[in-house]
Amino acid sequence: MSDQETVGKDQVVSIDYKLTDENGDLLDSSEGDKPLTYLHGHGNIVPGLEKALDGKSVGDQASVTVPPDEGYGERDSERIFEVPKDRFDFEVKPGDVVRVQTPQGVSPPVQVTAVTDDTVTLDANHPLAGKTLNFDVTVVEIRAASKEELDHGHSH
Ligand code: ZN
Repeated sequence: MSDQETVGKDQVVSIDYKLTDENGDLLDSSEGDKPLTYLHGHGNIVPGLEKALDGKSVGDQASVTVPPDEGYGERDSERIFEVPKDRFDFEVKPGDVVRVQTPQGVSPPVQVTAVTDDTVTLDANHPLAGKTLNFDVTVVEIRAASKEELDHGHSH
């Protein structure tokens, strides 16, 4: 233990954060909640933010602009698809997040973007794909990861 620790690979880092989009609209925040805790250097947060936090100390603040290719990626039109509406035995409307049965099993959550009389359009892109993200972060804690956390590749 030392009080000179900085954020680096294999450290478990806790941050308070506020995430806004390019219009300044709030997308997510740790305010009123616990800080976000993650294992640094293992791709558990978006690359642009992870890079910006490298070398920071407890109490440091940073404002980081993360373009899509350092964030959740670009939107991929191949991840937008239409399915027959009768695949759903419940009412769906744009904005709903659903899981669908596929030949490979149940899908991750996908967003309903359009509904017609016969079809439902689903978008499997990450909701933040294609967006430039602005993070305002404060480092609140840094500690060494346990062996188990390193084995698992995430914080406990
Ligand atoms: Zn684990």
